Amino acid sequence: MARVFNFSAGPAALPEDVLRQVADEMLDWHGSGQSVMEMSHRGKDFMSIAKAAEADLRELLGVPDGYHVLFLQGGASLQFEMIPMNLMRGKPVADYVNTGEWAKKAIKAASSLATVNVAASAQDRSFTYVPAQADWNLSDDAAYVHYTSNETIGGVQYHWLPEVGDVPLVCDMSSDILSKPVDVSRHGLIYAGAQKNIGPAGLTIVVVRDDLVGVGRPAPTAMLDYATHVKAESMYNTPPTFAIYVAGLVFKRLLAAGGLAAAAERNEAKAALLYDYLDSTDFYGNPVDEADRSLMNVPFTLPDPALDAEFLAGAAARGMVQLKGHRSVGGMRASIYNAMPIEGVTTLVDWMTEFAAAKG
Ligand SMILES: *Cc1c(COP(=O)(O)O)cnc(C)c1O
Repeated sequence: MARVFNFSAGPAALPEDVLRQVADEMLDWHGSGQSVMEMSHRGKDFMSIAKAAEADLRELLGVPDGYHVLFLQGGASLQFEMIPMNLMRGKPVADYVNTGEWAKKAIKAASSLATVNVAASAQDRSFTYVPAQADWNLSDDAAYVHYTSNETIGGVQYHWLPEVGDVPLVCDMSSDILSKPVDVSRHGLIYAGAQKNIGPAGLTIVVVRDDLVGVGRPAPTAMLDYATHVKAESMYNTPPTFAIYVAGLVFKRLLAAGGLAAAAERNEAKAALLYDYLDSTDFYGNPVDEADRSLMNVPFTLPDPALDAEFLAGAAARGMVQLKGHRSVGGMRASIYNAMPIEGVTTLVDWMTEFAAAKG
């Protein structure tokens, strides 16, 4: 069976050895005589799976004491709403940094629930950079400061952590969580949909500091209140059991492969291959400021959009799929999350080189 190199932005490629283990365990998980999909979420088998997944995620991210790890549903998009509902706690304003399509969606969702101050925006240059912190207009009395660590569509990534003093820092880490080490202690809340760099769609990870739980004013309804999920250890209602199980296998695999520092080295090597090639040619373009380039999502354009279809067809013929760029940006986008092997990137660069030579 031939597997493709899947450059999808999400849901995205998963590690092949994890998929094989899932296949092996599909009909009979560890002698239980059933699939994880069929298990009671309150039974001891699934409880052990969920506990191990949480412990392994805590170890990988280095989550300090005083933080809760939640396995929720509703995607990052539900967090766009739960965050203002829970974190405003009577304060007048929340600060957001607008770096692109996902930050814009977070801002739009929060604006219907709270007063939002856009402290900085990269809209002036079509979201091709991260505004320097010196240019941010933070509020004196903000409830929190929200940033998007990696803009999946624009291919723009923070390579530094915002400094916001005592104000809780909130991060949408959907598309670069687990790609490199992160200082959780500098954040009040981190959230991420699983389907980019963790596991199957349907699982949302939230890491939240204890003092930000149960402080929503007015208190949100039960399902929308972090306090509910903290108290019930993410089992207030049926959690996405199968997605938690697969994510747990991904966590174990990352730990065995050296943790997030080693993941960062692999990701830097893959991204360097692609960016070094892009820098060596005038045939392809990438509009993002060099210092803010994403190591996860690499957009690039061909000199003429009329060539796009032929480029994509040739890529597909060589076993590479999902390279078409987001409709708002055009061109191509190669998403090279943890599960993309370096062979996928070398195959892509080889095809880009061949195509440029033929058409340039
Ligand atoms: C994909 C994505 C989202 C939306 O995630 P859903 O799980 O579909 O709600 C939000 N933020 C970023 C940065 C993303 O990449």
